[in-house]
Amino acid sequence: IPEHTAIYDGEDDIVVGRILGEGFFGEVHEGVYKKRTRVAIKTCKDCSGDVKEKFLSEADLMKNLDHPHIVRLIGVIEFDPVWIVMELYEHGELGNYLVEQQYILSIARLTQYCLQICNALAYLEGLNMVHRDIAVRNILVASAECVKLGDFGLSRYVDDQEYYKASVSRLPIKWMAPESINFRRFTSASDVWMFGVCVWEIFSMAQQPFSWLENGQVINLLESGTRLGKPQKCPPTIYSLLTRCWSYEPHSRPTFRDLVLSFRCKLTNPPICASL
Ligand code: ATP
Repeated sequence: IPEHTAIYDGEDDIVVGRILGEGFFGEVHEGVYKKRTRVAIKTCKDCSGDVKEKFLSEADLMKNLDHPHIVRLIGVIEFDPVWIVMELYEHGELGNYLVEQQYILSIARLTQYCLQICNALAYLEGLNMVHRDIAVRNILVASAECVKLGDFGLSRYVDDQEYYKASVSRLPIKWMAPESINFRRFTSASDVWMFGVCVWEIFSMAQQPFSWLENGQVINLLESGTRLGKPQKCPPTIYSLLTRCWSYEPHSRPTFRDLVLSFRCKLTNPPICASL
């Protein structure tokens, strides 16, 4: 086990607790690491060969990430049992949290969550990394003031002028940009589109985007120019940002760096921000 990832140096190092949820590869448990740190443990059910490689590839990417609004990896156990150990965020998925707290969460709070996720994505954009699965189900709530982007299972590094061509069939069509649906083309600009859908989810308190459509119908609708409508709670200035994130042409969309400035302005609202 490489030293920087090894955390299993004795039977008592991790105490496994209750099940938090079901992941793609297996159950996710709550646990305690070294009697002090509360952790989430991702397990892998039939973890041999290919499956193990795919399972651990998420941790491999996360190892290099260090950001206040990205889920923190604590370590990996590479031999039986194969585990990914992360910091625990006890409020769970943002999607569920939005539903539970819908009467309490203010517009300013929702805007703050958007800004935090946007900051995390600007950080990834700077590392030439695409996330490819930006949605409230993949954001965890650390506290009422702090959310963290997680689930790097679909993430990839892309070269500067390059893009990642996906072969996976497990794709979140209703969140995806037209070029991702049509050509499996994923870039930071397609992440910007997805972020727009995620902001739409946040302001609609975790409604399903395009819930009235089958996956197969989405692309025709997008190509006809139709977009998700403004959620009731979404300020018009933020909705106008979303419509720019949903420009058909990837290069017409703002970057995450642009969006960070815009969201910061929406939150603090100084007069100079009117045009952002
Ligand atoms: P999928 O690809 O289907 O989303 P996955 O393998 O990526 O699944 P997760 O969605 O990351 O698995 O985890 C499954 C569940 O475990 C989540 O819904 C969440 O409730 C819980 N969970 C995962 N990581 C954490 C964490 N760090 N803190 C608290 N809960 C977590």
